[in-house]
Amino acid sequence: MTSSGADIGINHSSRNVGGPHHNIQHSLIWKEKLAPTMVLYSAGRTTSYPSETVEEGIRLHFLGGGDEVGNVGCVLEDKTGTRILIDYGLAPTRPPKYPSESPPVDHAIITHSHIDHIGMAPWLVGHHNTTLHGTELTAAVSEMMWRDTYKVSSIEGYPLPWDMRDLDVALGAWNTHKFGEWFNIGEWRLRFHRAGHIPGAAMIEIETPELRLLWGGDMDTRTSPNVGGAKAMDCDILCIESTYGGREHPNRQEEEARLVTRVKEIVGRGGVALIPAFASGRCQDILRILYEAAPHLEVHFDGMGTRITQHWMNNQQYIRNPSGLEKMWRWARKVRSKSDRKKALGADVIVTTSGMLDGGPAIWYLNRLRHDLSNAILLTGYQAEGSGGRGLLDNGKLPIFGNLTQIDLDVDQFQLSNHAGHSELETFVRECKPKHVVFFHGNTESRDAISAEFIQTPTPHLPVNGTTLLLK
Ligand SMILES: [Zn+2]
Repeated sequence: MTSSGADIGINHSSRNVGGPHHNIQHSLIWKEKLAPTMVLYSAGRTTSYPSETVEEGIRLHFLGGGDEVGNVGCVLEDKTGTRILIDYGLAPTRPPKYPSESPPVDHAIITHSHIDHIGMAPWLVGHHNTTLHGTELTAAVSEMMWRDTYKVSSIEGYPLPWDMRDLDVALGAWNTHKFGEWFNIGEWRLRFHRAGHIPGAAMIEIETPELRLLWGGDMDTRTSPNVGGAKAMDCDILCIESTYGGREHPNRQEEEARLVTRVKEIVGRGGVALIPAFASGRCQDILRILYEAAPHLEVHFDGMGTRITQHWMNNQQYIRNPSGLEKMWRWARKVRSKSDRKKALGADVIVTTSGMLDGGPAIWYLNRLRHDLSNAILLTGYQAEGSGGRGLLDNGKLPIFGNLTQIDLDVDQFQLSNHAGHSELETFVRECKPKHVVFFHGNTESRDAISAEFIQTPTPHLPVNGTTLLLK
């Protein structure tokens, strides 16, 4: 069974970003004016979801995010008729890409607040009156994420399949749970565990009458500046992301030290280090690294990351060493006005969105800083094909307010990912001792590389969107 004909709203793009797209302040990422073709949702349309009942085990059906990064949605069901959806995101490509249409579900688990996991939740609540289960922090950040997505889609001319009414209803649909606290859906018991990745991100443990399943979500077992790593646990079925299958991260401490050294060099020669960083996770990591290693620096913080940090401050139970976050928050100079922004041009360091230089304050700063060659740009994350940051790395040029502009500043890139690398994934799978391991959320190369580590025990599975996997 395929997902063709079951797409929601806007036609899928053939574009494949092929990497993690957590660039949530993607204000200009949809600017390519490809004529969007609207396909409106109409009641009674069929989805790719099978109509047969399940007789044994657990049936997994990926609406999206099976054989791709992001764009996640997966329906789980067993013989008791208990059915949940895990995540319902969108991929911020041009035009955005959506998972296939969800069948009716009363309950959805939302692992974390990145847009490729929550972007379509308003549609779900608006059409199926679904209850959203997540951590308090995920629920708190969701409003900002949805409003930003709505704003961007309006600006860029790619109408979303959901509207402001759906968004308002979704805000009231949250049922929040603390880590480790059991709750029931139908005949299943469920509880959240820390996933690493970003504060509030959850893995979900599910006990059905037959099996124990662990859904890893986006995860990392390594400790990062703001969140502790995920811990393995025994399960029968493990569903795990494969974003970095086949790729190893550099040593985290060494990479952080390299960043600090580079910042000091730039400041030492009289320059400003412009650090574009993703709003949810990366900005705050960079700031804590700088605060701990070089508190004498004058660091200005601009963009949506500042508002997300305020939510972190209000939900400190999800933060590693929260007093460190508080100190960083007091120390960083928050940009709150146009005059603050002008003042920031005289800083040592500016940390701001968008992380892929696709808009946001980063472009405003770059336009003013680009003439003084003592300044530099330090990229801190994955730069997707077609993004401003990718163009800068490959050709030394990127669009500034619509004009492709040559940038002569030094550009460095640092690997500070909050996804598990190949070794971390492999170790985690072995420690969970599952019978089955499902590798999703990865491109073909990555999924092949990590599944090759497991020949028989556990049995590896590589799901494809729109098809069904029955595990027992
Ligand atoms: Zn994520």
